[in-house]
Amino acid sequence: MPYFPPWTSVAEAAALLASGHIVAIPTETVYGLAGNALDPLALAKIFAAKGRPVFDPLIVHIADIDSLENVAQQIPESAYALARAFWPGPLTLVLPKQPCIPDLATSGLSTVAVRLPQHPIAQEIIRKAEVPLAAPSANLFKHVSPTTAEHVAAQLGSKIDGIVDGGPCTVGVESTIVAFEDDTPVILRPGAITPLMIESIIGKVKLKNSSSNPGEAMVSPGTMDTHYQPRIPLYYGALPKDFVIPTNTVRIAFGNTKSSIPASLNLSEIGNLTEATANLYAYMHQLDTPSNGFILVDPIPNEGLGIALNDRLRRASIKKLS
Ligand code: AMP
Ligand code: MG
Repeated sequence: MPYFPPWTSVAEAAALLASGHIVAIPTETVYGLAGNALDPLALAKIFAAKGRPVFDPLIVHIADIDSLENVAQQIPESAYALARAFWPGPLTLVLPKQPCIPDLATSGLSTVAVRLPQHPIAQEIIRKAEVPLAAPSANLFKHVSPTTAEHVAAQLGSKIDGIVDGGPCTVGVESTIVAFEDDTPVILRPGAITPLMIESIIGKVKLKNSSSNPGEAMVSPGTMDTHYQPRIPLYYGALPKDFVIPTNTVRIAFGNTKSSIPASLNLSEIGNLTEATANLYAYMHQLDTPSNGFILVDPIPNEGLGIALNDRLRRASIKKLS
C-alpha cells in the first residue's frame, strides 16, 4: 500500500501538538520534530520516532523572550544579552530548568536548552499550540538533518502525526548552543551565530571541544563524534597520497577548489559560506543513493560560519580511509 506523508496545515499542527501528538515543523535551522515540551508522553513519542537514545536531551522552543522564565530560571544577565541580540534566531541557551520541564526533555539534567526560532511558521505554531515545544531535528537518530519537508517525509513520514511544509530552511545547520558554566559562557555546538558574533555581545567565550570519550558523561550529548552521517560513506579531510579513489565517487565542491574528480554539486561557486551552509544537508541527502559509492567533500575554511560546517562535516565523515 502506498503511504502518504501526513501533510498538515498550521492550525491542524497546533491542534495536534496541543493534544499530545508529534508534528514536524519548519524552522530556519532544520526541520524539527515537535511535541509538547511539558508532556512526557509526547516527548517519549519523539524519542521513539527518531530512535533517539533518551540520554540525548531536547531543545525547548518558545515564541517570545517573556516565555523564557516559564521554562528556565536563574538566568544570567549575559544570557539575556544574547537573547536580546540573537532571538528570534539560531541560538540555543542552556539554563537551569523550571520544575515543570520533565526529566525526559533534559535527559535528567538540571538544565534545559531553550530557543526562540525565527521562522514565522514555527512561531505561529508555538503560539497557537499555547505550549513550549520540544523539537529535535526531524530525522532518524545520527542521520542527516532535514532541510526540506520532503527530507522529513522520506525518513519519518510513516511514524509521525503531521508535517508542515514551510519550504527549504534558510540557515541549514542546527543552532549554536551556549551554556553557562559557573556563569562563564561556553559554546557547546557551533552554528550560524558565530563565536565572533557572541563575543561582540558578551566578551570572550570558550568553544568546547565537543568530542566525547567513551564512558565519560557527555556535557552536550548531541555533539557526538559520529553524527549527521549519510548511508553511503562520506569523507571530509585531506586524502592520503596513495588513496585509490573508489568507483562511483561523487564530489561536493566548494568554490573553485582544484580536484581530479569532477564536481557533482558545488556548495557555493563563489565560496560564500552562508550559501554553502544552506546547501550542505540537501546535497548530502541528494547524493545519498545506492548508485553512488563514496562522497568526497572539499575543504571549507574554518572561520565564521565555516566553523559550524567543519564541525558537522567532521562528524558526518568516516574516520579512517582503508
Ligand atoms: P538537536 O538534536 O538539534 O535538537 O539538539 C539537541 C542538542 O542540544 C543535544 O544533543 C545536546 O547536545 C544539546 N542539549 C540539549 N539540552 C542540553 C542541556 N541541558 N545541556 C547541554 N546540552 C544540551
Ligand atoms: Mg539532530
